Amino acid sequence: MSDIPFETRHVFIAGEWRPADAGETLELQNPSDGTELARIARGGAADIDRAVGAARAALDGAWGRLAAAERGRLLAAMGRLVLEQAEELARLEALDVGKPLRQARADALALARYLEFYGGAADKVHGETIPYQPAYTVLTLREPHGVTGHIIPWNYPMQIIGRSVGAALAMGNAAVLKPAEEACLTALAFAKIAERAGLPAGALNVVPGTGEEAGAALSAHGGVDHISFTGSVATGALVQAAAAHHAVPVTLELGGKSPQIVFADADLDAALPYLVNAGIQNAGQTCSAGSRILVERPVHDALLGRLAERYRALKVGPALADLDVGPLISARQKEIVESYLALARQDGVAVAAEGSIIANAPRGGYYLRPALIAGAGPGHRLAQEEIFGPVQVVIPFADEAEAVRIANATQYGLVAGVWTRDGGRQLRLARAIRSGQVFVNNYGAGGGVELPFGGVKRSGHGREKGFEALYGFSTLKTVAILHG
Ligand code: NAD
Repeated sequence: MSDIPFETRHVFIAGEWRPADAGETLELQNPSDGTELARIARGGAADIDRAVGAARAALDGAWGRLAAAERGRLLAAMGRLVLEQAEELARLEALDVGKPLRQARADALALARYLEFYGGAADKVHGETIPYQPAYTVLTLREPHGVTGHIIPWNYPMQIIGRSVGAALAMGNAAVLKPAEEACLTALAFAKIAERAGLPAGALNVVPGTGEEAGAALSAHGGVDHISFTGSVATGALVQAAAAHHAVPVTLELGGKSPQIVFADADLDAALPYLVNAGIQNAGQTCSAGSRILVERPVHDALLGRLAERYRALKVGPALADLDVGPLISARQKEIVESYLALARQDGVAVAAEGSIIANAPRGGYYLRPALIAGAGPGHRLAQEEIFGPVQVVIPFADEAEAVRIANATQYGLVAGVWTRDGGRQLRLARAIRSGQVFVNNYGAGGGVELPFGGVKRSGHGREKGFEALYGFSTLKTVAILHG
């Protein structure tokens, strides 16, 4: 599309933009109308190999020689450029992912914050000295892994680049980024920003392409020292297995079926907007979507009524119309979500309320009416599987013990929300729920870049975001000096 302000059909390797080795391209669709938004390079194994080589050369060259403070300064400069271009980046992300503009704006600001945060942290990660036998001095050095591979999904490209690539660069790694084939314009824009900020060639390489080609080549490459993967459980398992051949460590940020637990004593007025937003943000295509709403029986019917009222008011339309909900990412994703709604009908599970698609939404867009489901038991597939669409199930519970049991009874463990005024219960649930993060009387804490994030069980392992990510993107060397 002519109004994308850069060439989209190139890979970025060793500081140079050029077509993929095989010269092929892929279509990037605009989910809001189903038309071609742009063409991107179809990077493959040869491009990944060159990118890994360029990253290694950067580590051996100018990038590897930079002081931590200088790396931090470069990241901070990139953060300032992101802020300067925030509106343009938000528009690209909205067009590419289909998310309402205001959500894409928040993502651009989050990317800037990650770069500020990791820029400031770059020179603050240090080792220790360890008391040992008097004849020795022992110290630990925090060192970069080396070449880090980053395979990311289409749902939050800017945010995930910020938390993953930002932290890796701060620690002095050289990165190879494989964005998703469904949405990768802001990954390319990010490389442009790195170039403008003066990041040494090869410190960041971006190779768009399919998962089966570029993604698989990156996860199996023997020259990669660490892989950060964000995406589905099935692909995460493939990536981890491929990396295992070279004993390469992997961080997996996978899916979820996160509960929001509402007790009868909760401030329902405060909870209500969070409960719905956690399910419909980015059309429900969010790893941390609060897709199960567990409600204590005395307030179940009243809360269901209020949730239904909100659902009926939801408006769905094109990303740039900036309504409550945008389209799904693709026709395929829409089919998947529709198949779950068909299952609800087939099993006699009630759709308590639906939102509406605005009348003039382009016909080719992947629009779907958000659906609030009541009456699916906690073991039903709708309450167990990650639907990845604007669908939430409401499930009643009798008491605290049952709430914990239901909350923990999925294969996932990413996020949980707990709504109660009872302080003891807040702490008990924070401990009893098996998930990477628990939010009490809120959901997501505004997304804070400072807060470590990750899963347990099938939701993954390892942590990104916050200072914690810097440990994940580095390795520890022990030095023992015998001096007599
Ligand atoms: P996906 O696993 O299909 O794709 C993610 C990435 O993996 C893409 O770049 C894709 O090209 C690549 N890929 C696909 N096949 C590959 C292979 N064989 N080898 C290597 N790479 C391959 O996931 P998706 O459908 O794009 O994203 C949605 C999933 O991501 C959901 O499950 C969601 O919960 C999860 N997610 C998790 C987080 C988190 O932080 N935990 C954040 C966002 C999304």
